[in-house]
Amino acid sequence: MVTATHCPYCSLQCGVDVDGIAVSGREFPTNRGGLCRKGATAGALLRHPDRLTTPLARDHKGAALGPVSWDEALDRVAAAILRTQAEHGPDAVACFGGGGLTNEKAYQLGKFARVALRTRHVDYNGRFCMSSAAAAASKAFGLDRGLPFPLSDIPQASAILLIGSNVAETMPPIMRYFERQQANGGTLIVVDPRRTATAQWATRHLQLRPGSDAAVANGLLHILVRDHHIDQEYIRRRTEGFEEALRTSAAYWPERVERITGVPEALLIEAATLLGSADRPMVLTARGPEQQAQGVNNTLAYINIALALGCVGKPFSGYGTLTGQGNGQGGREHGQKADQLPGYRRVDDPAARRQMANVWGLPAASIPGPGRPAVDLIDSIGADDGIRALIVMGSNLAVSAPDGSAVEDRLKALDLLVVCDFFLSETAALADVVLPSAQWAEEEGTMTNLEGRVIRRRCAMDPPDGVRTDLDILTSVAEHLGKQSYFPYRTAREIFEELRCATRGAPADYSGITYERIDAEDGVFWPCPSVDHPGTPRLFGDGFPRPGGRAKFHAVPHLPPADDRDDVRPLYLTTGRVLAQYQSGTQTRHVEDLERVSPEPLAEMHPATARLYGLTNGGRVRLTTRRGGATFTVKVTPTIREDTVFVAFHWGGERSVNRLTNAAVDPTSGMPEFKVCAVSAAAVDNLE
Ligand code: SF4
Repeated sequence: MVTATHCPYCSLQCGVDVDGIAVSGREFPTNRGGLCRKGATAGALLRHPDRLTTPLARDHKGAALGPVSWDEALDRVAAAILRTQAEHGPDAVACFGGGGLTNEKAYQLGKFARVALRTRHVDYNGRFCMSSAAAAASKAFGLDRGLPFPLSDIPQASAILLIGSNVAETMPPIMRYFERQQANGGTLIVVDPRRTATAQWATRHLQLRPGSDAAVANGLLHILVRDHHIDQEYIRRRTEGFEEALRTSAAYWPERVERITGVPEALLIEAATLLGSADRPMVLTARGPEQQAQGVNNTLAYINIALALGCVGKPFSGYGTLTGQGNGQGGREHGQKADQLPGYRRVDDPAARRQMANVWGLPAASIPGPGRPAVDLIDSIGADDGIRALIVMGSNLAVSAPDGSAVEDRLKALDLLVVCDFFLSETAALADVVLPSAQWAEEEGTMTNLEGRVIRRRCAMDPPDGVRTDLDILTSVAEHLGKQSYFPYRTAREIFEELRCATRGAPADYSGITYERIDAEDGVFWPCPSVDHPGTPRLFGDGFPRPGGRAKFHAVPHLPPADDRDDVRPLYLTTGRVLAQYQSGTQTRHVEDLERVSPEPLAEMHPATARLYGLTNGGRVRLTTRRGGATFTVKVTPTIREDTVFVAFHWGGERSVNRLTNAAVDPTSGMPEFKVCAVSAAAVDNLE
């Protein structure tokens, strides 16, 4: 039997048909039958011989993991939680979720933390992915939805500024939108330290120095103002704060921006002219500018450009961010963030607390307040008032968190680490209890794609014997903790019904969305406040959900990276993804076809840089940062800046580039600085 569902990986959430373990693209508005190599091979995950099919536990730290029954595993988890909380208080236990979890799971995990555990500590790996863009959009527009317009607007945009995204490799089916945009006569300007597949295909490429985004953005704004390309009427009528942003950008004249960023002055002027003379300009950011200790400010600086051009809230133009993880959007809306309740409500908002208390059937005062964001949460392990027990669901922290060796040490220091996963990931291998969970095609739920379109993930087959769904696991642990009355559900649909209720009247209002409507309409865009509301493909047409209905400019100067180059570490290290792997690789490293294409991380270096260090293509290089060192195979390529080394982050252990990255975080979003730190390089032969 063929089941219509969606790819397990990125935020494009391509429509797929699943027949047995065969996966094929299906006609769906976002992908129109197209799939990338990852989606096309996703069936290989389902009956993989490495699947976990029984709970595992170790008797004491240092002992090996061995199989145990579900009853025993759940008893151990519940007993350890109760013991930890009795000795150290409810906040000594934390939950850590993921941006790949369905909306129902994200909702349930947040509720489980606050209602079953009564802890304020719940956060997720979207903190490493989407938090800067989310914070910037909330500050500038009063609401964060990755794309506030449908993908189908892209082909009509006359000029697109795409910053820090290599979509040609990370989500290839989206390229059809950009191809149509170019066929319609539109221009694409890519900002990236690498001449990626996307940049090679663009009209112009601004190859900036890593960590210099705010200077590029201020420089472009400076030229747009100087050359009279801004929309004064829009700025006056629909925005505030322009004068301050203007004063800041005045200091970023093109020659100075060239010195800071390495982008030639003439190219900056060309790019600004293309954008400024376009009828329908569009600005799209992604992890490049966002995954920095200045990530929120970088994003705000690019949003300033969109506001100055007067394009936000107009069809076929505007500002958006390209979400990364499969449910990067819905995962940040429904309560698995440290500061958030379902529907994008704030946990410190008394009205939101009252509403959730009514839905959950408990006093508002019993809902814990804001908790620690991800990096801080991990850092606190081992501290007197820190986390002692951690439940991880849908995340492989040991690979995806910055300063990976320190993270591993912290995870080992926990009294209890529980990991729910379908493979023995690097994080699961450190756990005291591992609970085998179901995969994408073995369970029901909803996801929210990068456009804000809520879609259905359908169950195509039962999970293998011995495996339970994440929802079932959370309900079972709640039962073992004596909190079953708050978790009476048996199905994802029942949880979605509660989520609808919980988000009624909230910024991310799902109350009008039903499983039936999703089926009938190929997804529904939030906000959707009633069942007869059509959903909201485009936001901000009539105003912004901010005081006075106006969007806000922000004055954001360029600041250097937290860990800048010096004589000892004279290069920049930047990280990212490759076509054939996905995030921490827990899934894709189990797919033979993908492993053949990308079996290991490569250190991309410019030929001139390689020569300088005596390195050749295929040779080995030792990269060392202030956190530690790791050895990689060299890929010599002229597509990268001479001062920069790129390594993809999909691998663990000795192959993990995140052992080298910097855990410095953006002060607003808590986003770590994955995209830039100082590094030294040495040929391994020279070291021996
Ligand atoms: Fe899956 Fe993303 Fe590839 Fe589409 S682009 S098939 S959603 S990984």
